[in-house]
Amino acid sequence: MAPGTPPRRVFYLTTPIYYVNATPHLGHAYSTIVADTMCRYRRLAGDEVFFLTGTDEHGDKIAQAAAKAGETPQGYTDRISATFRAQWGALGITYDDFIRTTEPRHAGVVQAVLKRLHDAGEIYFGEYGGPYCYGCERFYTEKELVDGRCPQHGTEPTFLKEPNYFFRMSRYQEWLVGHIEANPDFIRPERYRNEVLGMLRDPLQDLSISRPKTRLQWGIPLPFDQNFVTYVWFDALLNYVSALGWPDGPRFQTFWPYAQHLIAKDILKPHAIYWPTMLKAAGIPLYRHLNVHGYWTLAGGKISKSVGKVVEALKVTETYGRDAFRYFVLREMPFGLDASFSEEALVERLNADLANDLGNFVSRTVAMLTSFARGVVPEAGPLGPAETAIEDGLTRMLRTVHAAMEEFAFQRALVAVWEWIAALNRYVDAQAPWALAKDPAQAGRLATVLYTLAEALRVLGSLLDPFLPDSAAAIRRQLGLGGATRLPDLEPWGRVAAGTRVEKAAALFPRVEAPRAAAPAPRARSEAAPPWITIEEFRRLDLRVAEVLEAEPVPKSKKLLKLTVKLGDETRTLVAGIAEHYRPEALRGRKVVVVANLEPATLMGVESNGMVLAGSEGDTLALLTLDRDLPPGAKVR
Ligand SMILES: [Zn+2]
Repeated sequence: MAPGTPPRRVFYLTTPIYYVNATPHLGHAYSTIVADTMCRYRRLAGDEVFFLTGTDEHGDKIAQAAAKAGETPQGYTDRISATFRAQWGALGITYDDFIRTTEPRHAGVVQAVLKRLHDAGEIYFGEYGGPYCYGCERFYTEKELVDGRCPQHGTEPTFLKEPNYFFRMSRYQEWLVGHIEANPDFIRPERYRNEVLGMLRDPLQDLSISRPKTRLQWGIPLPFDQNFVTYVWFDALLNYVSALGWPDGPRFQTFWPYAQHLIAKDILKPHAIYWPTMLKAAGIPLYRHLNVHGYWTLAGGKISKSVGKVVEALKVTETYGRDAFRYFVLREMPFGLDASFSEEALVERLNADLANDLGNFVSRTVAMLTSFARGVVPEAGPLGPAETAIEDGLTRMLRTVHAAMEEFAFQRALVAVWEWIAALNRYVDAQAPWALAKDPAQAGRLATVLYTLAEALRVLGSLLDPFLPDSAAAIRRQLGLGGATRLPDLEPWGRVAAGTRVEKAAALFPRVEAPRAAAPAPRARSEAAPPWITIEEFRRLDLRVAEVLEAEPVPKSKKLLKLTVKLGDETRTLVAGIAEHYRPEALRGRKVVVVANLEPATLMGVESNGMVLAGSEGDTLALLTLDRDLPPGAKVR
């Protein structure tokens, strides 16, 4: 086995199941892309992989959202769940199963687990009163509230008191603390493990696991009391085992012992406290790792399912390609910490890392093989120190990548790959194949250099597959290779066959000039509002004060007036559609605001060099004028 090669094993990874009270946003896309990258990577390593995602479809908020949309809860959840599947399809997500909590296979497992716990005395009937947040669908303790408000929503909770069924979660507090302490990587990165241990310093309450049907019908009925439905978290968490066919499905037997969950930090408590205690009480082995990532921020706010700052992740994908989007989110966010998303930063990464470093290396390698070797990989001569350095660099890089991927440290893995790409670009510059090609005495040396570059392409075409699936496939196509080489087979050096034909293709990542006008909104805008523009875009408008010297009707037009205006030293003609609102003589001498750099246009035979600004509502139109005098030509900003 090559150095740094991970051992073959079984790998089961879940994303959170996404709550269908809203359509997918950047946070969902990030979790899912991270999981997809990891699963592609493990498959490439030769592991037996099961990748689960899905949608969470019960609870107050779903019932409310469905009512608001004028749909039945089932019709509503069918529709929103389908948009998640469609988006994952468009992003090239390779999940093995998509579970919905409204499926009978799931409801059956929830009821079986509830019955088992009830029979074992782990569930009792009681009454609980406390502050309840409808947004979070949970009770809070007074201590958890921030200034008496929900820490997630900033809204005032409602005091609710009602009889319910409770899971004896408090019983498991000591055991859970012991488990987390004995297994340092049970919750990772470490900051979240510490956060959970912090939560567990306070007494753990029992968990209310039901909601009375008088208040909520949209849930899975308790098997032992038809007047109640299951609390949505208790229902949702069980998807991780119901999808595998708990208790005796073959998938459950194979994959559950290797379970790893991936979540965003807002759902840490249910996954780190409710879920392990539920598993323990039900006699189901615990998951291995809980991997927790941070938030994407836009303009300082959290992008969350209920707080609402929506980035249309897929719009970015359409503009820049899904690989660029995927690379950006993996490279930009240190796993576990928060990161900020901006289109400008994405374009910078696209130009620097993808177009310049990777794209350039690929295109110059293929171009040189085409020009200097008639498009065929030559036989390598003896390797010199420069080639050995590239080969050693690969071994070191693969070791770093494997170690980083063990910890979901995508950023670290990509930094290591890009360091190697930088070394390859330096190798090209130092060896200067274009100079070697001019000297027939250097033919052997040229062949060795070209072979080394082709071999590096082969490695990149496979190694990049989990991170940049479309581009990796394009690299492989240029070398006439189909599927990716498994990671254990990336080494030893020298696997590309002499005689392999290379195909020239379009650039992988054309450089992008600047964020385009159809940029995604940096902050939420209502459906009807046009997209945000940047201050730079606004500054492109040359707005000026203009004095009307002359105004006259445009012949044969009811709406248009021809205005002669003074703009500083200049006199211009422009046409304005204001004839139905202003008589020409009323305009003479008035100061108005015009767009001075609007492209000239001819209207009813009159050339217009600018546009007069006016507001309108219904039948009323009003010109923008000044409330204090300014000279003609003064800049408006
Ligand atoms: Zn809340």
